[in-house]
Amino acid sequence: MQRTISKPKSSDFDLLIAGGGMVGAALACALGEQNLRVAVVEAQQIPMRMPPRKESDFEPRVSALTQASRNFLDNIGVWSFISQYRHCPFERMCVWDAEGTGQIAFDAGDIGQMSLGYIIENSLISAGLYQRLAELDHVEIIAPASIAGLSINKDGMNLVQLQDGSKCSATLLVGADGAHSKVRELSGISIKQRDYQQCAIVTTVSTEFSHQATAWQRFLSTGPLAFLPLMGGSNDSHSCSIVWSLDTEEASSIMALQDQEFADALGRAFEYRLGNIMAVAKRFQFPLYQRHATTYKAPGVALVGDAAHTIHPLAGQGVNLGFLDAAVLAEEIIRALRRGLPLADPSLLSRYQRRRVADNLLMMNLMRGFKELFAQTSPAVRWARNTGMNLMNQLAPVKNHIAARAMGVTGDLPILARPGNSQVSDASEG
Ligand SMILES: Cc1cc2nc3c(=O)[nH]c(=O)nc-3n(C[C@H](O)[C@H](O)[C@H](O)COP(=O)(O)OP(=O)(O)OC[C@H]3O[C@@H](n4cnc5c(N)ncnc54)[C@H](O)[C@@H]3O)c2cc1C
Repeated sequence: MQRTISKPKSSDFDLLIAGGGMVGAALACALGEQNLRVAVVEAQQIPMRMPPRKESDFEPRVSALTQASRNFLDNIGVWSFISQYRHCPFERMCVWDAEGTGQIAFDAGDIGQMSLGYIIENSLISAGLYQRLAELDHVEIIAPASIAGLSINKDGMNLVQLQDGSKCSATLLVGADGAHSKVRELSGISIKQRDYQQCAIVTTVSTEFSHQATAWQRFLSTGPLAFLPLMGGSNDSHSCSIVWSLDTEEASSIMALQDQEFADALGRAFEYRLGNIMAVAKRFQFPLYQRHATTYKAPGVALVGDAAHTIHPLAGQGVNLGFLDAAVLAEEIIRALRRGLPLADPSLLSRYQRRRVADNLLMMNLMRGFKELFAQTSPAVRWARNTGMNLMNQLAPVKNHIAARAMGVTGDLPILARPGNSQVSDASEG
């Protein structure tokens, strides 16, 4: 079972990963079979096992995972665990403009796939990752423990100070400690931040009609509203996770509504595409920011996941980008090991940064562009937007290319995110 220790057995590591969220834990899984001493320092208590749940009892936080993320989780020995539990493959995606007739629909069959992606509770992804980490003898989990300080020791190694005053040294320190990364701050890496002045309301709802294994998204001028299909049991096709992005003030008013009033407002905002909203679980609210670190590396330090970038949830790409960061960094580390290079070799970190920045930036700019385009209320822009969407919907080759790219089926994927590369050692190629 999981080794969770508050005091590290050793205090010298080759690789110390600060933050055992989905991205940090995945990086540790990807490197756990290498001849490396790896530690994951996580501020929260690690969940020991999946809590037993009723069919209709969903965790509020879910992720829409791409095929590339599924491949990565498969290659690092985690997908087999996840696939035993409830997860909802979605076959179609339907996106439409609230201010007109523009609509675009994607179908997995059109790109030769069984599904476009998977909606999975974050707690299940984490449980799968920690289940795998428990099997990996080279990985030590130090939790609950927080990174509090960082200096360089006389051998040029990172000297990491934990909040309880204990110290660990590491050749390479990876900041996987989320949007407010302490590692980023301690390494003197600055960020560019944009406050969307919006919040995402997240909850689980039950709908009158079946969700048809489709991810639905309506673009309102106030922000996008997504209904993501969930599957509590084999007969459940009426549960959806919703992500409703709204200007902060409006989000507060909507949060203050009674459940029935909220259900009515949600049904209206969604044009009753899935009929009435029959039940609503507890609601949660998240402020939305776009953040991008000015660099993903400092001497002996790399950033991955939300520590390097946070993105508007409208296309559900945040953790998918984080998994690609982890896959690329793992590949570069394995490559360096094969060449006898030290883990903090500047060329390794530069290659990692080069391979990830452009991809992340492109996705962030795309999401910002979408958000701003759909916020426009001018009739001319609305007309052009709706015409463009309908035109694109008819241009099958272009549309299918976009879908395949967004779902991580094509493109320049890291080896660890391609199908069937269970041999992590293959990652040394390329
Ligand atoms: C409403 C909403 C919906 C979303 N939907 C999707 C989606 O559908 N698909 C998708 O791909 N993405 C989605 N995202 C984004 C996704 O949730 C994040 O990108 C992802 O959780 C980031 O993972 P991470 O491991 O990088 O960071 P985190 O999940 O933030 O994990 C960081 C970890 O570091 C730990 N930590 C922090 N400080 C310290 C410290 N000093 N020392 C030690 N440990 C520390 C924390 O406890 C935490 O466990 C969504 C985001 C939001 C807000």
